[in-house]
Amino acid sequence: MDVTTARERLEEMLAELERSIGVLQGDPAAVREHSAADAGSDLTDADRAQAMLTVATAQRRAVIEALKRLEEGVYGECVDCRKPVPEGRLEARPEAARCVQCQGKKERRR
Ligand SMILES: [Zn+2]
Repeated sequence: MDVTTARERLEEMLAELERSIGVLQGDPAAVREHSAADAGSDLTDADRAQAMLTVATAQRRAVIEALKRLEEGVYGECVDCRKPVPEGRLEARPEAARCVQCQGKKERRR
């Protein structure tokens, strides 16, 4: 994926996330619509909004960091091992900071 495409996709994601975060912070009624897919869980709307907000905020941070790596010319390199992150992974998750191996290691450490 070339840098221009990556930047466009990241900027779109960022705009989308900003919008979701704004909605989640401002209007709990909108959350019900957003999460209709997982209706049936016994989370309250407020819990659900909080959980979605946590996810959206973390993802926004990842996107901002990816844009920073673009600026620095190291986009597409794994932040841990510096090997190139596979193209397919970046297509699926343009904000990915790590290759699959390093991401796996990081997640096991938690
Ligand atoms: Zn790596």
